[in-house]
Amino acid sequence: MTKKAKRNIVHKRFDSIVKGSQDTKKYRGLELTNGLRVLLVSDSKTRVSAVALDVKVGHLMDPWELPGLAHFCEHMLFLGTAKYPSEREYFKYLAANNGDSNAYTDTDHTNYSFEVRSEKLYGALDRFAQFFLDPQFTESATEREVCAVNCEYLDKVNEDFWRCLQVERSLSKPGHDYSKFAIGNKKTLLEDPRTKGIEPRDVLLDFYKNWYSSDIMTCCIVGKESLDVLESYLGSFKFDAIKNTRKERKIWKDSPFGPDQLAKRIEIVPIQNTGQVSIKFPFPDLNGEFLSQPGDYIAHLIGHEGPGSLLSELKRLGWVISLEADNHTIASGFGVFSVTMDLSTEGLEHVDDVIQLVFNFIGFLKSSGPQKWIHDELAELNAVDFRFDDVKHTMEKASILAECLHPKIRKNFETALKTSHHAFNLPEKNEYIPSKFDQKPREPVKSGYPRLISEDEWIQVWFKQDNEYNSPKQGIMFALTTPLVAKKSKNVVAFKSLDTIIEETYNARLAGLECQFESSSSGVQIRVFGYDEKQSLFAKHLVNRMANFQVNRLCFDISFESLKRTLTNHAFSQPHDLSAHFIDLLVVDNIWSKEQLLAVCDSVTLEDVHGFAIKMLQAFHMELFVHGNSTEKDTLQLSKELSDILKSVAPNSRPLKRDEHNPHRELQLINGHEHVYRHFQKTHDVGCVEVAFQIGVQSTYNNSVNKLLNELIKNPAYTILRTNEALGYNVSTESRLNDGNVYLHVIVQGPESADHVLERIEVFLESAREEIVAMPQEDFDYQVWAMFKENPPTLSQCFSMFWSEIHSRQYNFGRNKEVRGISKRITKEEVINFFDRKIRKGGAERRKLALGLWKK
Ligand SMILES: [Zn+2]
Repeated sequence: MTKKAKRNIVHKRFDSIVKGSQDTKKYRGLELTNGLRVLLVSDSKTRVSAVALDVKVGHLMDPWELPGLAHFCEHMLFLGTAKYPSEREYFKYLAANNGDSNAYTDTDHTNYSFEVRSEKLYGALDRFAQFFLDPQFTESATEREVCAVNCEYLDKVNEDFWRCLQVERSLSKPGHDYSKFAIGNKKTLLEDPRTKGIEPRDVLLDFYKNWYSSDIMTCCIVGKESLDVLESYLGSFKFDAIKNTRKERKIWKDSPFGPDQLAKRIEIVPIQNTGQVSIKFPFPDLNGEFLSQPGDYIAHLIGHEGPGSLLSELKRLGWVISLEADNHTIASGFGVFSVTMDLSTEGLEHVDDVIQLVFNFIGFLKSSGPQKWIHDELAELNAVDFRFDDVKHTMEKASILAECLHPKIRKNFETALKTSHHAFNLPEKNEYIPSKFDQKPREPVKSGYPRLISEDEWIQVWFKQDNEYNSPKQGIMFALTTPLVAKKSKNVVAFKSLDTIIEETYNARLAGLECQFESSSSGVQIRVFGYDEKQSLFAKHLVNRMANFQVNRLCFDISFESLKRTLTNHAFSQPHDLSAHFIDLLVVDNIWSKEQLLAVCDSVTLEDVHGFAIKMLQAFHMELFVHGNSTEKDTLQLSKELSDILKSVAPNSRPLKRDEHNPHRELQLINGHEHVYRHFQKTHDVGCVEVAFQIGVQSTYNNSVNKLLNELIKNPAYTILRTNEALGYNVSTESRLNDGNVYLHVIVQGPESADHVLERIEVFLESAREEIVAMPQEDFDYQVWAMFKENPPTLSQCFSMFWSEIHSRQYNFGRNKEVRGISKRITKEEVINFFDRKIRKGGAERRKLALGLWKK
């Protein structure tokens, strides 16, 4: 046998890729002989490998007679290849190796990606490469997958976001590719073409053959192998054999918005109870300007929420609830800049005035000229690799952009552009930007878990100095428990107005201090995470603001209007969001339905809100947890300062007794019982079935087996319920933890009747059981092992994990380690036994709660 000559598959090499100074990964750029561009990344430390392949074809290239074809092609690509004909092969392989996959179709490109545990990159890449070499597009899959796309369409058709987007597309220049219909449905992909004598599958095959061309594809592979080994994979899986049909990367020089489309006012009747105005400007494609980010500069100033900003003036007038400025490239060659505002009822009466003010503000920005310091601050905030050389260029660009807004709008707004307005100022310097990144003095006690460092009748203080991540970051969690809130639905609503405090924290959020302020029926939780330097200051500010809460009449009215809108609009949510809420209402103690809260909204007065903090602080308990770059001394100091703030507001308050601050409780269902609740929703053309099996109070064993069981049925659920039976686009299973209780959920959102879906879920569970029984021992062991091959948690995730143990009063900080230990010893027989007892029809400990949400 003669040794085969090694094929040369590389046309060009790019070894000198610029990277950050901290980056230890190795990079190699290649252009293969067929024009495919590849970026290889070797990261010896990674446990998860990832691959993405992008092809420069999107729904703007759909043939006019088959709208949605690019998206449909993306769906069909996965369903079997010549080498691996099984439709499930790719997903099954990834699922068995702790992997996941994703794909999406955009305007001018389609993206396919997956991740998998590092040891299995080779096998996954083999299956993945086949999609671009020899996909089957079988006839049987074609009809079925049209149904899947149709379900996806039904999910979205009554969502305001998608409706508005389609109106924007449909009203663009006639004949412009942007005016096409992107998602596709049964009518556009199957019925209409067939009445015209067009066979969809034939067009699909042509579309693939024509557009899936190697010279408009780019691929990125990240693995722990060396660059040479990664490069050899390209040859092994014949990436160089992907067909090259010599396509050009398409650029739309012509904007979809010409003179006939611009300066128009379009009114849309929404499905939800909203009032929104959106002003859109055609914008150049700024993707080439990624270093200077001129679009971000303008969006930052128009979208700013500080004093002197456009939003603060619109809020002061009581017209606008929120404002968002955004620029993005729609497709190669053209983009859009938009200013979108949520209006109050009052604001709806003043739409023209609101628009006038937006143009006043743009005029103000133009006359102020570009500011270098703001650009520098932005660069610092975004931690972009900022190079001084680019400043001048950016500024010029930003100025040009402001200029190009000018001629494309109506005369009266041209006047507004030139009119100065007293209310506007450029933002002030952001005091929350950190400057110190040093490590705090090391504690003598090195502990892997949080420790209780102080406790009295008022407060428990938990602390852990970070000794793993060594980053200049920390998290602060502060919980205030008060029994007053849960007593009346009216209290919950009054208390909700405190959530507006978060809106005043714009600068801190810009400076990377994540902040959550959450009111619940048991009290309030404040979570801050980010650079440690300014964090205590910020936490004290928040607690102070809460304890001395005051708002003016106008802000109160706006915030209540916005709250009422949120509560009303909940009924229009996606069916699976509704079912999750209904299940909570059924089992969780002390919560109110959105309707109950809405019913009392109008009875809450400004005085109720102002008096609430004092009332709430008549009796309370606090928990503080600090984790990260901090010291025990600083934490105790912070705890004292926070306590002092609250006690000074309510000097006659008392600490709660132990039995007054129990964590949430849930209803325990009876063994062997099965409950089905039925609800209706009027918004969507799809319904939802959510089945929840109550496993019991969490224990290391329950958590482990349930988590494993969920991993074992996840992939079959997707394949059987979504792909084979086409019951819906949204199909999932989840191992969920709720207030310390364990559940297994199966969720199907789709157009079929709930009774039918309920029945199919039972049949599915039985077949999933058979699959586990028949699973070779080797595959099973693999699944168990793969479950824990995740990358280690980040500091922020660790912080949240520890907090959930503190807040649920279970204090089992080593739970994950224990779960890992136990899981490795779980046998297949144990999983089946668990399934038979708790999930299978007739099981002695089966507790099933199902929610069927019917469509209209
Ligand atoms: Zn899709």
